[in-house]
Amino acid sequence: MKRPSLAVAANRVFAVATLGALSYSPAAAQGIDYSRLEIKTTDLGQGVYLLNWQGGDSLILVGDDGVLLVDTSVAAMGDKIKAAIGKVSDKPIKLIVNTHAHADHVGANEALAKGGATIVAHANLRDRMAKGFTAFGQAIPPAPPAALPTVIYADAMTLHFDGETVQLFHPPNAHTDSDTLVHFRRANVIHASGTIGGDGGYVFFDMASGGSLAGTIVAEDKMLSLADDKTRIVADEGDPASTEMLRASRDMLVALRTRVQKLIDEGKSEDEAVAAKPTKEFDAQWVHQGNFLTGDAMTRMAYQSLKSARPPTTPNPSGGLPR
Ligand SMILES: [Zn+2]
Repeated sequence: MKRPSLAVAANRVFAVATLGALSYSPAAAQGIDYSRLEIKTTDLGQGVYLLNWQGGDSLILVGDDGVLLVDTSVAAMGDKIKAAIGKVSDKPIKLIVNTHAHADHVGANEALAKGGATIVAHANLRDRMAKGFTAFGQAIPPAPPAALPTVIYADAMTLHFDGETVQLFHPPNAHTDSDTLVHFRRANVIHASGTIGGDGGYVFFDMASGGSLAGTIVAEDKMLSLADDKTRIVADEGDPASTEMLRASRDMLVALRTRVQKLIDEGKSEDEAVAAKPTKEFDAQWVHQGNFLTGDAMTRMAYQSLKSARPPTTPNPSGGLPR
């Protein structure tokens, strides 16, 4: 499993955290020089390509008539995304799917939809973009109309595009409250909308954006129900994860939930739960040097999420409800 270097981790869009308060600083505050970031294009087969730039990775599906784009990246990367698409297709972008309302997934919507693309997303994403929202401590102002999704859905939706069947599923309160899992059935690729950690690391659920531990487990279960042993699962960064990695992540999260819930039931405070080191046996595998997601950070996130026990806002597409 590829491990990000410190330099790469430092370039990660949301890599800085004050662990005690679990508050995160956006890339803008770190002065990331996007002009130095390159997009790496990987052919995943059947017309699907991964566009990887160390932030909210994009996917494209290239057909005879046009291009379907999943996630537009930050505004500053829009031209590079466009250029990367241009290297594999001279056709226009026809459809854009936004996986969730974080700036590295919706930031270049307006620029990339300019040629007439239709933007599709979950209803909560349009809501957040229309009203403006705060993510990672960064206030995102209301988006201009041209950047907003015009086709929205509630639980699930199917797109037929140049012979491919693209299924969209909304897992409630997972990485955020606006997630879309995107399943390319023929290509056997799933975009995880941030519900699995990049490069095999711990997964981040953004509670300030409606995310939760329980919902992230449900999202991973949903992806496992769609996957076979050859499925590639696209996280926010790095190489796609395997189904085996996804299963390991789900099992780790379930164990973490059980342990932290037990500590809560025993009346332990958040600091006492951290001191009990419930992630101890997992950290060697799931903590990456330079990443803000340490074992202690995961324990704090799990504690806060289970303590608030936010119920899902919409029915879970896979049938079960988070416990
Ligand atoms: Zn995200």
